[in-house]
Amino acid sequence: MTILQGATGEWEMVIGLEVHAQVISNAKLFSAAATTFGAAPNAQVSLVDAAFPGMLPVLNEKCIEQAVRTGLGLKAQINLTSVFDRKNYFYADLPAGYQISQFTQPIVGKGEILLDMPDGVTRCIGITRLHLEQDAGKSMHDQSPSETFVDLNRAGVALMEIVSEPDMRSGEEAGAYLKKLRAILRYLGTCDGNMEEGSMRCDVNLSMRRKGETAFGTRCEIKNVNSIRFVQQAIEYESHRQVEVLESGGTIIQETRLWDTAKGITRTMRSKEDAHDYRYFPDPDLLPLVLDPAFVENIRQHLPELPDDKRARFITYYGLKPYDASVLVAEKATADFFELVAAGRDGKLAANWVTVELFGALNKRGKTIEESPVSAEALGGLVDLISAQILSGRMAKEVFEAMVETGQSAAQIVEERGLKQVTDSGAIEKEVDAILAANGDKVAEYRSGKDKLFGFFVGQVMKATEGKANPALLNELLKKKLSGSAV
Ligand code: ADP
Ligand code: MG
Repeated sequence: MTILQGATGEWEMVIGLEVHAQVISNAKLFSAAATTFGAAPNAQVSLVDAAFPGMLPVLNEKCIEQAVRTGLGLKAQINLTSVFDRKNYFYADLPAGYQISQFTQPIVGKGEILLDMPDGVTRCIGITRLHLEQDAGKSMHDQSPSETFVDLNRAGVALMEIVSEPDMRSGEEAGAYLKKLRAILRYLGTCDGNMEEGSMRCDVNLSMRRKGETAFGTRCEIKNVNSIRFVQQAIEYESHRQVEVLESGGTIIQETRLWDTAKGITRTMRSKEDAHDYRYFPDPDLLPLVLDPAFVENIRQHLPELPDDKRARFITYYGLKPYDASVLVAEKATADFFELVAAGRDGKLAANWVTVELFGALNKRGKTIEESPVSAEALGGLVDLISAQILSGRMAKEVFEAMVETGQSAAQIVEERGLKQVTDSGAIEKEVDAILAANGDKVAEYRSGKDKLFGFFVGQVMKATEGKANPALLNELLKKKLSGSAV
């Protein structure tokens, strides 16, 4: 929970998110036109999408399946009967003059999403509903100084509108919610979650209340924010704006606002319309949608393992810390990569190499796990050399850097650079003896209580062995020798 310190007291944020997620499907919700991103303008428009008179919508079963799959992934109630309604409004890129949506009877009811916050707390965010609706077309105002062009490729594409309860209390939670929702959708294969291409868009609803107050304040809605970072920035700005208005004796008017990316502010777009403004009524071209329980059951049986289950399995099976497990399951590609590295190996060690070294190297180079210069197999090979005590942790880091640079396997690099760790205690003992003999004064100082010199001895032996002495063995031998009476 983020508490905002105002001039007259402390304030709490209340946030609910509406996410429009484009359904992965080759065809649109009510027509057979294609949905590929980036096609030439108006290349994917059927007569139904262009709302020619007399054209009738035909429901695409694939989209229904995807909505049900998503509902099950959100642990939500699946409504066996749902209804498609017309939501009426005028817009240049909405040729029918209405959008087919679902209002009073959506296909999916209440569900939930669990958030694992970095402080170890798990937050449960309620899902109010998920309904199916058509996307609108796109008006392009930037192609000509005097004309607006309309591209109907997107018109009629299936969207899932996923509405959350007003359960979030900070921008951080809103960000975690969007990441988790996106992960679930990607695991399910129901939406690609690509916010830059607009296949996932978010409306932020935010109100403020005094700390300790139980009633909600009046909310503003910030429309169509297209990145998680912008969502968090918009929340930050809007919460301060509302507190200022409220503390100076003003009232918040329920309205729709825009996030101005360039200026970093929200501004008024229009006053909020109410549901009755849209004159919702059941679409007479479409019968109520009635699902066979066996259809739902079949989808349930074929659900993939979802992030929460995977996380639980990683914790029990590989012995990972809960937060590390959350980090690994956040993207399916990362989880799969980790499992390849961990197969038949020490899971904790594998997790550490993936989340610390590999993530670090990828971040530094701006690469995704799919573009990793080190394959899961190669990283597994490195983990093997560490487990077999051929490489110390420090040497392994050096080998890893070389793997990232050259794409070679760990074994190749070890061979070429002669990097094998010395684990022969006789050989290490010889070096230790030589160092202690050459530094009689320091040995005396150490024995008279200057403990810090221990590191000096470790350093000297490492230098003499070119860093190859097994650190654990070296520590043990040094301790033994230094505590003895003679060198
Ligand atoms: P609308 O179509 O009017 O935007 P929806 O029911 O689709 O209404 O969405 C309302 C969203 O606003 C939900 O995510 C809900 O959690 C959120 N919300 C409702 N009341 C508040 C409030 N007082 N403060 C913050 N968010 C709220
Ligand atoms: Mg809304």
